[in-house]
This record gives sequence, C-alpha cells and structure tokens, in this order.
Amino acid sequence: MTEPHGPVYLVGAGPGDPGLITRRGLELLRSCDVVLYDRLVDPSLLDEAPTHAERISVGKVPGGPRPAQAAIDRLIVEHAVEGKKVVRLKGGDPFVFGRGADEAQALAAAGIAFEIVPGVSSAVAVPAYAGIPLTHSGLSSSFAVITAHESAARPGAQERWSELARGATTLVLLMGVGALEETCRRLIDAGLTPDEPAAVIERGTTSDQRTIVGSVGSIAQLAIEAGIEPPAVTIVGPVVSLRDAIAWFETRPLIGVSVVVTRPHVQSKDLARALRAAGAGVIVAPTIAIEDPESWAELDRAVAELSKGAYDWVVFSSRNAVERVNGRVWESEGDARALAGTRIVAVGPGTVGALHSAGLRADLVPDDHSGAGIAAALGSGSGRILLPRPSDAPDALPAALRDGGWDVDEVEAYRTVIGPGLPHETVVAGDFDAVIFASGSAVRGFVELYGKADSLGSKVIICIGNSTAEAARELGFEVTVTAAEPTAQALVQALVTHRPK
Ligand code: SAH
Repeated sequence: MTEPHGPVYLVGAGPGDPGLITRRGLELLRSCDVVLYDRLVDPSLLDEAPTHAERISVGKVPGGPRPAQAAIDRLIVEHAVEGKKVVRLKGGDPFVFGRGADEAQALAAAGIAFEIVPGVSSAVAVPAYAGIPLTHSGLSSSFAVITAHESAARPGAQERWSELARGATTLVLLMGVGALEETCRRLIDAGLTPDEPAAVIERGTTSDQRTIVGSVGSIAQLAIEAGIEPPAVTIVGPVVSLRDAIAWFETRPLIGVSVVVTRPHVQSKDLARALRAAGAGVIVAPTIAIEDPESWAELDRAVAELSKGAYDWVVFSSRNAVERVNGRVWESEGDARALAGTRIVAVGPGTVGALHSAGLRADLVPDDHSGAGIAAALGSGSGRILLPRPSDAPDALPAALRDGGWDVDEVEAYRTVIGPGLPHETVVAGDFDAVIFASGSAVRGFVELYGKADSLGSKVIICIGNSTAEAARELGFEVTVTAAEPTAQALVQALVTHRPK
C-alpha cells in the first residue's frame, strides 16, 4: 500500500488585484511549503507565503513557450509525494480556462487528494472593475464566457459562434487578443449588428487597467491603435453602455502609476494598502530589514531599570523601538505596568499606534514628527531619558537632549540591516514611476542594491520626512517631495500632487 498524499490545493488567486484572493486561499498560502504560481499572479501574494516556502514559477514567460502542462502536473505530484503542503496558485478561478481541470485529473490519476479553492474569475471581475455589469434588469439577463482562442481551426467553429451570438445577451471573450478582428467578424457573420457595443479591458483590476470602448465593427481596430496586449477581456453587448455612468476604478488618482516601496515588509503593509486604494501599482522591494541586536543584554538592563522607575522619560522614535522594548518587558515577565511611572514621548502617529497596541499612551507627541521635534518639545531639563534606538541611528537627537541638560541612556533596541535579499527584477529593469523612502537607511540600502542615485533618472522620489530627504540628497538623489507628515496618507497625497504622468 502506498501512503496517502496531499491534499494539494488548487487555489484561485483572483484576477490581479491581490485583495481579491479568498480568505481560504490566503490561509492556505500562508501555511504552505511550496507554491507553484502562474505569471499573472501578483508578486505581493507570493510575499504572503512563509519565508521557508519554495516559490516556483510555472507560468508562460511573455514571448516564450508555454511550459508543457505535463511538466507542471509532474512538479505538483512530485512535491506532494515528498510530503510537502503544495499550493498551486492560479490566476482568476482554477476551473475557468485555467487548466486547473487538467491538474485535478493528474492528481486524481496519481491517487493524490486535492481541494479546489475557487477564485474570482477575470471573466466577472475585470468587467466589474471597468464599470460594466454582465447582467442588468433592463438590458441583459444572460452572459456567456467564451475563449476567443483557436476559434478558426476547430471544425464547426462558425456554427458554434452563431449559437453563442444568439444564445446570450452579453458575451465575455477571454484570451485571443491577437484574433480579435477575426472573432468580431465571426460575430457579425453570426448575426450581431456591427454597432453592437463592445469593450476591451487590458490588465483589469490592476493599476495598469485600460478600457477601450467601441462596437463589434470597430473594436478590433481601436484595440490595435491603442496597442492593447494580453491579458485582456472583451465584452460584447448592450451592458457596455452602462460604463459611462458607473465606471469607478480608472478614475482613482494614481491609476497607471507604479511605485516602489523600500520599507521592510511588515512596515510596508499599511503604506501599500493606502497606495493601492488610490489606484497605484505597488512594488514592495525592501532595501533594509529590521533584526534583533547581537545581544539583548543592554536592553534588558535598561528594561530592568525602567521597571524600577529609574527614568523620567522614555523616548520612542519608531514603531520598532516600541515593539522591541515591549517584547523585552514581556520576556522579563513584566507588562505595560513596567512603564507606569515613566513619561512617554512618541515621535509621530506610527509610533503612537504601536504604543496603543501595547496598551500605552504617549504623554508627549511633538508637532514636528522628527528627532529635532522631540528635542525641541522636551527642551531643557534635568532627569534621565531612556532612548531605545537602532544601532545606526544618527547622533543628533541624543546630542541635542544632552545639550538641554538631560542624562540620556541610549540603548540599542534593534539593528537595521542594509540590502537583505536580492535586488527586485522590476526595480533593476527601471519599470516604475516613483520610489518612496521612509528612512535614511532605506536610501543607503537602495544604493547598495541598485547602484548610484542617478540610476533613478527622472523618477519621482518621495521621502517621509526631512532627515530622510537630507540623507537622500547627501547620496545624490534629487528628492521630488517630502511628505507633509510621516503617515501613509501624507505619502499618498504627496504622490498624487506630484503624479509622474
Ligand atoms: N482562470 C483565469 C483565466 C485564465 S485564461 C480566470 O478565471 O480569470 C487567461 C485569460 O484570462 C487572459 O487571456 C485574459 O483574457 C483573461 N485575464 C486574466 N486576467 C486578466 C486581467 N487581469 N485583465 C484582463 N484579462 C485577464
């Protein structure tokens, strides 16, 4: 008897927008050992897989050959037999033109259990993001989803097109951008009038979404003129006319703008979400990572003093500092009460948020969310200040506090390591419009990974605050704009105001 294997999960990733994966899909992705993914899957979804998980691309490279289905089937089976938890992540829905059925058949034949996690298909999601409903109470009570591929070669193709053209009011054509002219001719031959409304939507649900509207008679030519390329969905039917009134996605301020976020992964999440909500394409390409100090001894010593009420103030200049101090308090079997007698300064809203999560409230938040702002707010005085910081923090803040008469205990709470991981392909290729820096070390990490400042040419460069902008200028970057406040919203606003195109 062979051992039972699997289950293998055939998961629909949704049509492009990473927010459109299902909860079940995300849960499986976050706990897999291997993910085999298609080309159209958004890279930020792959970031959701555990660090140890192997990520294997099995998609067709543009212009290259389509990998043989048998080879993909074999890879899935091999990994399952090794006892790994395999997620096969597929664009849209696995059972809509996705060869998911072939893969399920191969698994069944190999005696491996599997689960199908349906996805949001591009067939419905892409028209929805273009403001084109597939059905409508007055205009259409049926739709058909058809592949426009291979249409000519099949025997009886014209009869089938005739049936389809008459069989549903709304037609959704997947694939076959290159064959659009022929497809439209067949539809007209099948009885549709040339002025039947039609639309082509390229790269739907992503920041690069473009929609061309015309009629069955004109749309192929319009698509050529606009340079439409796969992936694209074509919609034919009277519902296309509703777009004028209900288009909603392409009107977002950052549609078509792609922006590189250089923060460490965990800290990129809020910013990436805010940028996507404004319509931007986000490339999360961290140039630094936050790591534990070589030893906790120094911070543990400070935490012990803190619990005894030995400091008058503790100054948190980042979310990381809050998290690390809080972590060590917890490790020493204490809790938020360890800070009970100590007044707290938080540099800005992000740090305030981290304090809130720890059940702590800041006594002082300077209006100017910077080291200089903290020094000015504390002014001169006497007493002890605990300043938990990264190893490479600039000296300006402790120096200013000491000038003010304070006794500053500066303690390493975390390390910022520059240039972890590999350079990001898209960044190397220069395939983006803007880059956001949220710290001087992120700028230095950028230089380390991608070379000198002039590699950025005329791209829009946005910095979170003055000290980051200064660090960038020192390294030769031409900073386009500094955010009004160190928040995700202000960074998005800065990009909207300085929209590159
Ligand atoms: N299983 C997928 C479809 C795979 S076939 C699904 O359910 O969506 C690939 C075709 O899907 C492409 O040729 C294109 O017609 C369509 N498609 C997929 N993603 C798309 C997108 N983001 N924008 C437009 N069309 C898309």
